[in-house]
Amino acid sequence: MNDLFNSFMTGPDEKGRFGIFGGRFVSETLMPLILELEDQYERAKTDESFWAEMDFLWKHYVGRPSPLYHAERLSERLGGAKVYMKRDELNHTGAHKINNVLGQIILARRMGKTRIIAETGAGQHGVATATVCAKFGLKCVVYMGAHDVERQQPNVFRMKLLGAEVIPVTSGRGTLKDAMNDALRDWVTNVRDTFYCIGTVAGPHPYPAMVRDFQAIIGKEAKEQMMEAEGRLPDTIIAAIGGGSNAMGLFYPFLDDKDVRIIGVEAGGKGVNEKMEHCASLTGGRPGVLHGNRTYLLQDEDGQILEGFSISAGLDYPGIGPEHAWLHDIGRAEYVAITDKEALAAFQLCCETEGIIPALEPSHALAHVMKIAPDLPKDHIICMNMCGRGDKDIFTVAKHLGFDMG
Ligand SMILES: *Cc1c(COP(=O)(O)O)cnc(C)c1O
Repeated sequence: MNDLFNSFMTGPDEKGRFGIFGGRFVSETLMPLILELEDQYERAKTDESFWAEMDFLWKHYVGRPSPLYHAERLSERLGGAKVYMKRDELNHTGAHKINNVLGQIILARRMGKTRIIAETGAGQHGVATATVCAKFGLKCVVYMGAHDVERQQPNVFRMKLLGAEVIPVTSGRGTLKDAMNDALRDWVTNVRDTFYCIGTVAGPHPYPAMVRDFQAIIGKEAKEQMMEAEGRLPDTIIAAIGGGSNAMGLFYPFLDDKDVRIIGVEAGGKGVNEKMEHCASLTGGRPGVLHGNRTYLLQDEDGQILEGFSISAGLDYPGIGPEHAWLHDIGRAEYVAITDKEALAAFQLCCETEGIIPALEPSHALAHVMKIAPDLPKDHIICMNMCGRGDKDIFTVAKHLGFDMG
């Protein structure tokens, strides 16, 4: 058989579909913007000077490559598989989001755009966008649900320090879903100078593929580093999923390595079986259309989008990137859910055994590592993506552990 015709890496098709997922479900007024973006991205993608600029800034501004680290004491404690961490929490701004933001903003500059808009839930994508805008002297406007503005004061202040304008969105329930709608409206109104920077592998085509391509630096490096460290590929790779960008970034370069087991970890909140108090769109949702693409969503029987629930603000997007929905349905990747409680236990174990304070998002991935590693042989290699650092989460964790911060 010819491998070319059997690749998992060829999607999406020309309409932006991964199987029945993805696509471009946008209003007529948005269509020309989306098509222009697609055209410009297709050009940049094959332009060596575009990637040269990315590589330079990834190295000198973001701090790539991030290390691949053998978590020796953690592996020993679990008593089974050998656990590696891809240390993307060491990036400038403390998470993987900047990998993608840098790509989109370099593209925006090539397109002659001078104003960048973004939406943010927990605030991390807003901070990454404000950061890169400050670096290039671009105007930055961030839409954020009014409820999230209240919950995420430190990130709101960071964005303001970085020169961004933060617009609280009061429509709907004042959360991420509503902020995304307002950002799309802004884009249509201000087409000429404005670029819409999306923070995960969601939205209408070409965003899911474009964001994946920018985040794929994670998996590309991990693959090379694993060959250097072990002389072979890992047996299992694991990442946490909000919208799915850090996971897609790690997974993508491994999709055609059929012996590598791929596991995405969703936020199970208080448990996937209880009245939707979770954010597990694949494990506990149904297909529908939101933000320009078809994918698995948290929705009620009438198709109303439900608010997710998770201890980790960065994981509470009510959908999941369409490529994950496809990988799930064709069986190339597995998706599991981890509860708040399990994530907290993993958070603590990581601090104590490795001297690394992880973000609550990758703590979900680590919790699944804790579940499976003990039963695996010592020569089984797991690589998990440590996609963010936990400084932002210490107050949340303190509250849950009953620690008085005064
Ligand atoms: C935003 C964020 C996530 C969730 O987004 P994905 O697109 O699923 O990667 C996960 N971890 C961290 C640290 C984040 O900042």
